[in-house]
Amino acid sequence: MDNIALPKTQESALFTDSSEAEVFDVAVIGAGVVGSLIARELTRQGASVVVLEAKSDVAMGATSANSGIVHAGFDAKPGTLKARFNVEGNRMMPALCKELGVKYRNNGSLVVAFSEEEKEAICELISRGEQNGVEGLQVLSREELRAKEPNIGENAVAALYAPTGGIVCPYGLAFAALGNAMDNGAQLITDFAVDAITYEEPYFSVSSSEKVVRARYAVNAAGIYADEVARLIGCHDFTVKPRKGEYMLMDKTCGDLVSCTVFRVPSRLGKGVLVSPTADGNLILGPTAADGEDKTDKSTTAEGLKSIAALACQSVQGIPLRSVITSFSGLRSVGDTGDFIIRPDSVLPRFIHVAAIESPGLTSAPAIACYVAELLQNAGLSVKGNPDFSPIRESEYAFREMTAEQKNAVIAKDKRYGRVVCRCETVTEGEIVEAIHRNPKATTVDGVKRRTRGGMGRCQGGFCGPIVAEILSRELGIPLEQVTKSGGKSYLNVGKTK
Ligand SMILES: Cc1cc2nc3c(=O)[nH]c(=O)nc-3n(C[C@H](O)[C@H](O)[C@H](O)COP(=O)(O)OP(=O)(O)OC[C@H]3O[C@@H](n4cnc5c(N)ncnc54)[C@H](O)[C@@H]3O)c2cc1C
Repeated sequence: MDNIALPKTQESALFTDSSEAEVFDVAVIGAGVVGSLIARELTRQGASVVVLEAKSDVAMGATSANSGIVHAGFDAKPGTLKARFNVEGNRMMPALCKELGVKYRNNGSLVVAFSEEEKEAICELISRGEQNGVEGLQVLSREELRAKEPNIGENAVAALYAPTGGIVCPYGLAFAALGNAMDNGAQLITDFAVDAITYEEPYFSVSSSEKVVRARYAVNAAGIYADEVARLIGCHDFTVKPRKGEYMLMDKTCGDLVSCTVFRVPSRLGKGVLVSPTADGNLILGPTAADGEDKTDKSTTAEGLKSIAALACQSVQGIPLRSVITSFSGLRSVGDTGDFIIRPDSVLPRFIHVAAIESPGLTSAPAIACYVAELLQNAGLSVKGNPDFSPIRESEYAFREMTAEQKNAVIAKDKRYGRVVCRCETVTEGEIVEAIHRNPKATTVDGVKRRTRGGMGRCQGGFCGPIVAEILSRELGIPLEQVTKSGGKSYLNVGKTK
């Protein structure tokens, strides 16, 4: 099944109230990186899985807007779920990304001290890290630090070096995990904002408007809305509040200004402003940390960006601030326990809450997925394994990374790879068409952008956006006026001028 529009026959099989309607083993609510990896793990175990996503696409919540750091694990308080899953997830990430063809780099991370007081904080982080089982932590002197990162800020006095730190494309991981889950039998229903859940032995009826999906077990992986989804089954045990983080993304010409991820000493609100290469070769600066109430406020502010610029330029010298290509923000899911909340519901044990997955949630997601699968089995989910499960997902053609011979061979097979649509990132029509037809299928201009990088470059889609919209219209068989930027009513064209 695809995630574009359900053919009528399948739609009725899923949504009617008749006794023939399919009953899934597990309904996963939320297609962020956590829900996507849970779905994949469950298909590996042989469960039938449906993923229900409120938005028009996968990875449109926190998974789309974060630092993309695979944290080493020295920051989380020992004994917490955060500490455990961070370190486990960090260890799983390289092999997982290899299986799924996701961009990952083990670039190491630094926490830089700018005063003697901060140097002491670094020693505390080492002690925490060692208790959490992080390997290879070292304190670098000023000279060693400068030898490792020649552009480090001139007032830096020392640093904590974590060789196991890495960087990953966060939404790339979610697309690949869910795509692999779908290739192994999972179903994805987008534009399905769960607004009611009832349980009547032996299954949950999970509804969105008039549509109902049935499943014997359910997982609440709804990110910042996990508390609201919990309320639907009468659980008022926790709240999730947004903490906004703003970013500046720099052009690829700055991508090698630092090789490690450069953190500052963390504070109560988080890990502070970092300077890091991204898995795709840009340089990222941020995030800020501002507590709020509005779960929809993803604005950036002049003050936020100014503070990022000031701190980043103190951490690393020579950041060309004129090379900013975009700014954006993401919302952390801050719970009221200080830790991830991952447990069966106290009244309905077949319903698993996976809430307050703030940082290091991306790093932890692979380990969380295994843990949730275990919780479901403890709750009675009986699975026999899936002998046909394939963990491998071939990575998409990335035309810009091919040799001239490879490019010629691909174009000889399919001429659409010879037509460059996004010139900033060298993305071809062939790659865009592939993104539209491969699970989980892109149905919007932003969906194409996040899968192919078409529109992610210096012009931010100013030139290629209209061509991508035309390709979407053609491939999906819909009028151009119905193509959206990112689902809902975000139409790009309102009609013809002539
Ligand atoms: C600023 C910032 C920086 C971060 N940096 C890092 C980092 O460097 N490293 C790291 O490890 N972690 C980092 N994190 C944390 C990481 O991004 C998150 O932990 C992770 O993305 C959470 O994934 P998720 O799937 O739980 O949530 P989300 O990605 O938010 O997914 C939840 C999904 O549920 C859907 N949903 C919500 N309500 C409903 C409903 N009623 N019905 C159906 N679907 C629903 C949403 O639309 C969404 O797609 C950062 C987070 C932020 C915000």
